[in-house]
Amino acid sequence: MQERINFLREELNKYSYNYYVLDNPLISDFEYDKLYKELEELEKQYPLLITPDSPTQRVGGISTGFQEVKHKYRLYSLDNTYSYDELRKWYEKITNEFGNNVELVCELKIDGLAIALAYKNGSFVHGATRGNGITGEEITQNLRTIKAIPLKLFEDADVEVRGEIYMPKTSFEKLNEENLANGEKPFANPRNAAAGSLRQLDSSITAKRDLSMFTYTPIIERASKQPKTHWDGIQYVKELGFKINPNIRLVNDIEGAIDFCKEWETKRFELNYATDGVVIKVNNLAYQNELGYTSRAPKWATAFKFPPEEISTVLRDIELGVGKTGAITPVAVLDPVNLAGSVVSRASLHNFDEIRRLDVRIGDRVLIKKAAEIIPKVIKVCDSPEHDNLPIYQVQADCPSCGEPIKEVEGEVNLYCLNPKCPAVLRAKLEYWVSKEAMDIDSVGPSVIEKLYNLGLVQAPIDFYKLTIEDFLKLELVKEKSAANMYNAIQASKKKPLAKFITALSIRNVGKETADLLVNELPSLEDFKCATVERLAEIDGIGDKIAKNIYEFFHNEHNLATLNEFKEIGFDFENTFTPKTDELAGKTFVLTGTLQTMTRDEAGDIIKSKGGKTSSSVSKKTSFVVVGENPGSKLDKAQDLGVIILNEDEFKKMAGIE
Ligand code: NAD
Repeated sequence: MQERINFLREELNKYSYNYYVLDNPLISDFEYDKLYKELEELEKQYPLLITPDSPTQRVGGISTGFQEVKHKYRLYSLDNTYSYDELRKWYEKITNEFGNNVELVCELKIDGLAIALAYKNGSFVHGATRGNGITGEEITQNLRTIKAIPLKLFEDADVEVRGEIYMPKTSFEKLNEENLANGEKPFANPRNAAAGSLRQLDSSITAKRDLSMFTYTPIIERASKQPKTHWDGIQYVKELGFKINPNIRLVNDIEGAIDFCKEWETKRFELNYATDGVVIKVNNLAYQNELGYTSRAPKWATAFKFPPEEISTVLRDIELGVGKTGAITPVAVLDPVNLAGSVVSRASLHNFDEIRRLDVRIGDRVLIKKAAEIIPKVIKVCDSPEHDNLPIYQVQADCPSCGEPIKEVEGEVNLYCLNPKCPAVLRAKLEYWVSKEAMDIDSVGPSVIEKLYNLGLVQAPIDFYKLTIEDFLKLELVKEKSAANMYNAIQASKKKPLAKFITALSIRNVGKETADLLVNELPSLEDFKCATVERLAEIDGIGDKIAKNIYEFFHNEHNLATLNEFKEIGFDFENTFTPKTDELAGKTFVLTGTLQTMTRDEAGDIIKSKGGKTSSSVSKKTSFVVVGENPGSKLDKAQDLGVIILNEDEFKKMAGIE
């Protein structure tokens, strides 16, 4: 037993060092928590084997070069669980002591870095990392660069607050792109990026990083109010000038808290910051005092952790897929693992640069990540001695579908099969043509396309429109009714809006959002044919590379001939939409979050019917951002750029409804 305990301690210490000090986790949090729970259980069974330096007796971090300071009030960790039943057991202990219906506050568990800030007479005096909970690192200068940290409060108060420093997901992605471009190592996740940015010895580097903070624990020493509950304390620090997370809820009992956890298990992916769970806290501060602490965590709070988004598994093979633009995409074939509620056996490897960057080799143990319904991706290779003995992955030279050599395309990271007759490319284009995002012909699915293609009836999208009902009847199992349905749906698609047609063309880097932006400015196909690269690049949201791709597409003889064919068979190609009024003319709106009385699409239609425009991204040219519940990163961006923000009622008033 002692041997297993020693092994677990050694492993956990190694993982903690890499996680806290090097900001480079070697395994997923879920796997770490599993080992940690095992050690905790063993120590419970054999209490004599507990040592003060066991990871179960300590709070996380270790110092790395800053001056150490002793915290005035100790900073604790949190007990955690992945199970609702364990939450119920935790609550039962509390209600046994204080009676039923002990109020709880539910907060999102922000996956960042804990810090403590001290204010004297309303001024920020110093701030430190959590460190080991007793001492931390003094990083006041760096913290001063973070705009969400008030330097002066709205009241002349003495307070200490704890909160979480985090980096928005979009800023993390941007930082990693920059790091890669500069030949530097990217951060594994937003938490590591926030930690690395905060612990810079040069605070001008911290200042350049987009960091923010949510405050979640107030300790009020001297102020005009002395809240008696955690909820009131949080509202009060908001009044003092701190940023608190808006997704917080006061509930009557543990079932209310469980509802909150269930709700956020999926909604969390809409947020622009990482959250790995929900923190549940007893609301009454007198009860909190009575309950007290274990050696490392409060007894009055616990964390429910969401099912893992990351897990490790073995990479068995790398298969190559061929997309609608001819892009060759490597796909990881994995030993099946359970991740976020489903069995995963394939994951994206993006492109060959990514394989080189990660140095992924067949046989490696890799960490994979899944966020909501997004396809899982390989994010890193786990350290192992076997890695060096595996052969370095060599890029296959030929297209796996047609056998033509794979080529590089200037300015693109992907490699391409440029054979216009490649069967995989043709099939992918046909499938995309009928997809929801493009022409939305849902009665024609991939298996029908496969049969039509194999019979030589359809090679390119234009062929769909030449099919007769009899052609469909040639397909196995297709009866008259469904043949007529498919025929009619295809013919009806000729009347689809221009933006859908542009999307369906599979122009490299032009998806639905880009097509919407283009059609806003170029309302007919003739405009597309005449547009110069410069004109295209002037359109908000269209970069030089995309402008060049579009220009080339509309100056290719074969494409022009096909477009003519579409015209001859009855496609309209005019953006026929005419607004009913011009009340919102010249105004561009961005919609974010869930609206209460309409969907975002309905709001978009109202805007367009009144002459306004909608856009999917916030820029200086955006006139208004309409914000619903749980807005995403667009709200942050609007605030940064000083764009006017409207709530739903304000928007409705402006649009003259109700
Ligand atoms: P924790 O992250 O599980 O929970 C405690 C922390 O939650 C607090 O210190 C605080 O920073 C944070 N927090 C976020 N929102 C909060 C809120 N609203 N209210 C209160 N606190 C909030 O605990 P920890 O001690 O920081 O770290 C331990 C965890 O770190 C492990 O459970 C594991 O998941 C992870 N870890 C992973 C590795 C790895 O190799 N992958 C290694 C070490 C630790």
